Amino acid sequence: MTDFNKILDQVYKETLANADTGKVARYIPELAKISNDKFGLCLLDAKGSRVAYGDWEERFSIQSISKVFGLALAFKRIGNKLWSRVGVEPSGDPFNHLSLLELEQGIPRNPLINAGAIVVCDILVSEFKDAKKEVLQFVRSLTNDDSIDFNFSVAASEKATGFKNYAAAYLMKSNGNLNNPVETVLDLYFHLCALEMSCSQVATAFFPFMNHGRCTQNIQHLEVNKIKRINAIMLTCGFYDEAGEFAFEVGLPGKSGVGGGIVALLPQQFCIVSWSPGLNPKGNSTRGMYALERFTTLSELSIF
Ligand code: GLN
Repeated sequence: MTDFNKILDQVYKETLANADTGKVARYIPELAKISNDKFGLCLLDAKGSRVAYGDWEERFSIQSISKVFGLALAFKRIGNKLWSRVGVEPSGDPFNHLSLLELEQGIPRNPLINAGAIVVCDILVSEFKDAKKEVLQFVRSLTNDDSIDFNFSVAASEKATGFKNYAAAYLMKSNGNLNNPVETVLDLYFHLCALEMSCSQVATAFFPFMNHGRCTQNIQHLEVNKIKRINAIMLTCGFYDEAGEFAFEVGLPGKSGVGGGIVALLPQQFCIVSWSPGLNPKGNSTRGMYALERFTTLSELSIF
C-alpha cells in the first residue's frame, strides 16, 4: 500500500523549499489580486480517503479546469454529435491562440482550449433553457455540494477584458459554428471560468473521472466509455502547449487553469489537486507542475 500521507508531506515541503513561485495571471484583473503565497494540495483516493496540506480548503478561481465540466455535460447530453463541432487533437498552441486556419473553418482543435470550450458553451446554450444554472447544478451534483458557486466579480472582470475570446467567438460565428449570439455564449463561458472551488472540492468533482463515471455518492454521472474519451482528451490537450511536458514529467491525465489550479488523476486510484496561483510562461502553475512531478516520481504511480 502506498503511504499517500508520507509522500504528500514530503512533496508539500519540497515544493515550498525548491519550486519557483511563478507569476500570478495579470490579464484578468480580479485574478491579479490573489496572493502568490497560497499553496494547497489534496489527494482523494478511490476509497474516498483524503490527504491534504496547506491552503486546500480555500476556494480559488478554477478557470480552465471547468472546461472539463462543460465538455462532460455537453458529451453526456448530445453524445458523439459533439465531434462534428470540435476536434480532439492537441493544439500545441497557447490556450487563447487564434488558430486562424482552423477557426476559419469554424472547428477548433479540441474542447480544452478557449475556442473549443466556447463551442461547447454554444451547444449548452442551445440544449438547456438556463445553461448557467444547468452547469452549476451539474458541478454541484458531481460533488454533492450545493455551496459551489460562480464568483461574479471574476466573471465580470473577464467580460470586460476577454477580447481574444470575443475574437475567437466572432471568427467561429462567421464560419457557422456558433448558433447563438456571441454575448450569450461568452456569458456562459466567462461564468464557467469563474467557478470557485477548493482543492478538496475539485478532487471530489473529478472522482467520477477516476472512478468509471461514479461519484463519491456512487451515482453514475457518465458512461464508462465517455469517461475514457474525456480522460484521453485531458492527457493530450489538458495543458495547452505544455501537454507533452506534463505527460513527460507527471504522466497523468489532467487539467490546469490560469487561477493556478491543476487536477490530475490515475484511473481507479486517486485524484490529486494542487493550487498555487503563480504561473509559468505557458500559463500552468509552477509549484503545481513541480509538486505533481515529485508526487508521481516518489509514489511510482502514473499511467505509464
Ligand atoms: N478565463 C480564461 C481565459 O479565457 C481561461 C484560461 C485558462 O485558464 N487557461 O482566458
